[in-house]
Amino acid sequence: MSDWQKVLKDDSISTLEGLRAYVAERFGEDAAEREIDVEALRPAFDNFQMRITRESLSQIREVGDANWNQFIPSVQELEIVDGVIDSLDEDGDSPVPNITHRYPDRALFLVSPVCASYCRFCTRRRKVGDPEKISLREYESAFQYLAAHTEIRDVILSGGDPMMLSDSRLEYIFQRLRAIPHIEIIRLGSRITSHLPERVTPEFCEMVQKYHPIFMNTHFNHPSELTPAAVAALDRLSRAGISLGCQTVLLKGVNDDPHIMMALMHALLRARVRPYYIYMADQVAGGEHFRTTVQKGLEIIQALRGWTSGLAVPQFVIDAPGGGGKVPLLPEYVEEITEDEVVFRNYEGKRFTYKQPRQLVPASAPGIAAEAHDVVPIAAGKAAKKSRAARQRKSMNG
Ligand code: SF4
Repeated sequence: MSDWQKVLKDDSISTLEGLRAYVAERFGEDAAEREIDVEALRPAFDNFQMRITRESLSQIREVGDANWNQFIPSVQELEIVDGVIDSLDEDGDSPVPNITHRYPDRALFLVSPVCASYCRFCTRRRKVGDPEKISLREYESAFQYLAAHTEIRDVILSGGDPMMLSDSRLEYIFQRLRAIPHIEIIRLGSRITSHLPERVTPEFCEMVQKYHPIFMNTHFNHPSELTPAAVAALDRLSRAGISLGCQTVLLKGVNDDPHIMMALMHALLRARVRPYYIYMADQVAGGEHFRTTVQKGLEIIQALRGWTSGLAVPQFVIDAPGGGGKVPLLPEYVEEITEDEVVFRNYEGKRFTYKQPRQLVPASAPGIAAEAHDVVPIAAGKAAKKSRAARQRKSMNG
């Protein structure tokens, strides 16, 4: 057993009784009595597995804070209003087991059914948590599908968390994918740097370099997740040549606040991770209590754009329910568009006007149809002629 597997096994909490004992010891018996009602939480636990690693536990500073809410089961998970089990209809776009092929040139390959810690808002909770939920025997049909579909140039390894696989299993997958000529990019969708940074071993970093270009979409939702251990793991990945991005989920009670999001984006950039997406929380059954309004997301993007470096501003997207794919959302900056001008507001709310290009006339002889690149505005044409003549005079004189 590797060291990281030992840490995962020995230092994680995966039973409600263990959780209650941990909370009693760390936050007091009153907190355990109030917050961890083992019998009341049992149906939520049975519905979606619980495991919280040592690293995730260390990120909880107090009862009910952002990291508590992400990992501690709640009876609210049992309240279903609009939630559905497969809210993105990933199974509807699955031509063979473990593959979701929704977009023209990329495909999702589910390679691991398990994660180090389980996030209570997880969209894929129907598939994740139980080794039986993704059959590893079914890799073969996935490889055959990817090889047969020459339009696929980008494969996203996901799950679960692909970094929960052993190095040898990951290397086998990399080798099989690299044997398919049309696959250019391999991406790992992984929350391991936040949940189990010990998994980013020197051996993994050595091995992965043989299969570039490899990208990793990390997943951080709160600045407090960027602990020294997480930042060190990100550094090891960067030094191994992996391009790092971050997907963040907008979650009520976790990061639905512009200041928290700004701090998160800055912390990511300091760790050389490019913020990539902020997602609206999906309408998944069991995770509805994490949902905010779309206006909240727009307010957050408005508080980022212009107020900080563009590098720190990810795209805000809704993954369209029912399988429509990701749709970007932007606050309304444009007030009016006419043929003459566009009126818009900047990040401070100040209004500006951009003149549309004026009516153009051909630069060539009248009556001769001109190509688009031959046409210039009348005034601009005269000005250009004047400055050409001036340049000629100057060069003759000097
Ligand atoms: S790491 Fe990802 S797949 Fe795993 S429980 Fe969290 S959100 Fe779900």
